[in-house]
Amino acid sequence: MASSTDHEVAAFVAQVEISSEHQPEFLQAVHEVVESVMPVVLDNKTYQDANILERLVEPDRLLRFRVTWEDDQGRVHVNRAYRVEFSNVLGPYKGGMRFHPTVNESVLKFLGFEQVFKNSLTGLLMGGGKGGSDFDPKGKSDAEVRRFCEALMLELGRHIGPDTDVPAGDIGVGAREVGYMFGAYRRLHNKHVGVLTGKGIGWGGSLIRTEATGYGCVEFCRHMLEHTGDGFAGKKCVVSGSGNVAQHAAEKLIKLDAKVLSLSDSKGCIYVEDGLTTEHLEWIKDLKNNRRGRIHEAADAFDGIEYREGGEPWDIACDVALPCATQNEVSEDEARRLVKGGVRAVAEGANMPVEAGGVAVFQQAGVLFGPGKAANAGGVAVSGLEMAQNAGRLMWSADKVETQLEDIMRDIHAKCIEHGSGAHSTAKGVPDYVRGANVGGFIRVADAMLDQGLW
Ligand code: NDP
Repeated sequence: MASSTDHEVAAFVAQVEISSEHQPEFLQAVHEVVESVMPVVLDNKTYQDANILERLVEPDRLLRFRVTWEDDQGRVHVNRAYRVEFSNVLGPYKGGMRFHPTVNESVLKFLGFEQVFKNSLTGLLMGGGKGGSDFDPKGKSDAEVRRFCEALMLELGRHIGPDTDVPAGDIGVGAREVGYMFGAYRRLHNKHVGVLTGKGIGWGGSLIRTEATGYGCVEFCRHMLEHTGDGFAGKKCVVSGSGNVAQHAAEKLIKLDAKVLSLSDSKGCIYVEDGLTTEHLEWIKDLKNNRRGRIHEAADAFDGIEYREGGEPWDIACDVALPCATQNEVSEDEARRLVKGGVRAVAEGANMPVEAGGVAVFQQAGVLFGPGKAANAGGVAVSGLEMAQNAGRLMWSADKVETQLEDIMRDIHAKCIEHGSGAHSTAKGVPDYVRGANVGGFIRVADAMLDQGLW
């Protein structure tokens, strides 16, 4: 029988459905957070009187603008770009820019909403935002990408700033794109300031920022395993994606003596029975980051790497799965196949890669499940450290940044345990990391909103 909390959740989500019609990804993210935090809200009259939840699901503002740019043949193109400034109650809006044909308002509102709680969990002073464009950098020349980034910054530059809104990278936006956007901002505004993170090391970037999301995800997963008295050594791990997050998750797994059995891209996956070596990984990094090739080329280059056209890693028997590509890449059925294959821990390197039904399958099976807003918070955490270095016109050593990253991931894990274990554990007695992350992130934001009045 449905409880009164279930009714409150259903009624609240139904209201959001009306105001955010045709935004399935955003509604999925809202549903997951509200399910966790509703009991806390129902228990706290001050939150209810201040209408905290209603205020949280509405972004502070949503910018949408046209980007007009010219290709190498002089043809004129138009793309749509956005910046969703969700909440700056904890600090300047902070969150990446995504360039991918699937970018729309729903996807960016989901990412911006998640970012509010993720940034709160880091304990740093960062609000939440997200942006991007339906521009596809694949198949474009460097000059075309540069012209697009410059045209985008012509408009975006009016709305951002080191104390206002600080974008970074995401899918389709790496070092090259951040460099072009920063260069355009610097010239247009005549300011060399920390207006973007993920910058080049020689001109304001932080050491370990490139590695931070993947390393942090593995670190979070290590804490989940260690909490049950286990560790990574010898574990069979599957990783999806082959971009920034996947590459550095794989790198850290290899360092911890785990066996990385797979990587993928949007066309298929590679299976490496004996585990990826550092040599394989360095070759794949060069392929993806410099030569901008496809993952199947790794199977042509090395014996022992098999390519599965159109395949995903979820059929491979493993102990640990790290989905690091994109949202909704693990369905309920694929989650069942992972459970059948013996998976014991899943940590989301990507944002919301596991569908809601898949999360339920893992939790019912007693699998340790680390949601993205906790497990992939290492990237934005080091972005926060980059902002601190820029503000002080300093550069910290790699060791100093990595130590702080590890401390932050340890603290996020502890916060998840604080709000997700004991009476809140899942049916099999495993900590409910989804509840832990949502409630831990929510309370800090909600209390700051109360302190700051009705804004
Ligand atoms: P990249 O662009 O570097 O890599 C993305 C990878 O995912 C590529 O291998 C890409 O394959 C694959 N991919 C993208 N879309 C799809 C799709 N629809 N189906 C299958 N595969 C797909 O992005 P990042 O590594 O930076 O980001 C990956 C995920 O991590 C995203 O969810 C992002 O939001 C999240 N994240 C990233 C952070 C960061 O610091 N970069 C921080 C926190 C979260 P292909 O090359 O074929 O497109």
